[in-house]
Amino acid sequence: MNEMSLKDMSKLTELHQALEQHQIKGFLAQDEAEALYQYALHSSSLGPCLEIGSYCGKSSVYLGSACRAQDSILFTIDHHRGSEEHQAGEEYHDPDLFDRNAGRVDTFPALRKTLDLFSLQQTVVPIVAPSQVVAKKWAMPLGLVFVDGGHSLEQALFDCLTWSEFVVPGGYLLIHDIFPNPADGGQAPYLALQETLKKQTFSWVGTVRSLAILQRR
Ligand code: MG
Repeated sequence: MNEMSLKDMSKLTELHQALEQHQIKGFLAQDEAEALYQYALHSSSLGPCLEIGSYCGKSSVYLGSACRAQDSILFTIDHHRGSEEHQAGEEYHDPDLFDRNAGRVDTFPALRKTLDLFSLQQTVVPIVAPSQVVAKKWAMPLGLVFVDGGHSLEQALFDCLTWSEFVVPGGYLLIHDIFPNPADGGQAPYLALQETLKKQTFSWVGTVRSLAILQRR
């Protein structure tokens, strides 16, 4: 990976500040966000990027801005009904994202607003559906896949094992919320990472905080 240019560094500072200013919700550390931006920049010549778990679009802004700089595309998949931990009464429930009329979580309006704020309508393609449904007929090779969807073991395994198949040689698979120590967080993404590595189609690149980075052989 090349060093970041001054232009990219100032773009990132601008994105951090604007996301903060608009109070865009999300669970992503600044150094992880920078890694997303950088890997998306470097892989977009290989194919479009795809994200699983759009939520309110914080990570989509970093991935999408890098895609826009390269005239590429980011697909972002989310059913927008929230993961297990976002439901009413759960640890990460946010009443702002609860649709009282429908009686359930709906994060799609927040994603849409974020994409509008960052002028990403011509770059980011939201897909409002469960990842299993999209995967049924997906056929497009991808330069980068970022897995940050549901954190049940079943979902994490599905997302890592299925979507990794679409990454082209030289492309990247990024997996969020990797905690080797159970005291630091849920184990499903970590176990899914182990299963993905067993297939031996990816090389280990490293981690940035809780973001694991793999490259397709
Ligand atoms: Mg995450």
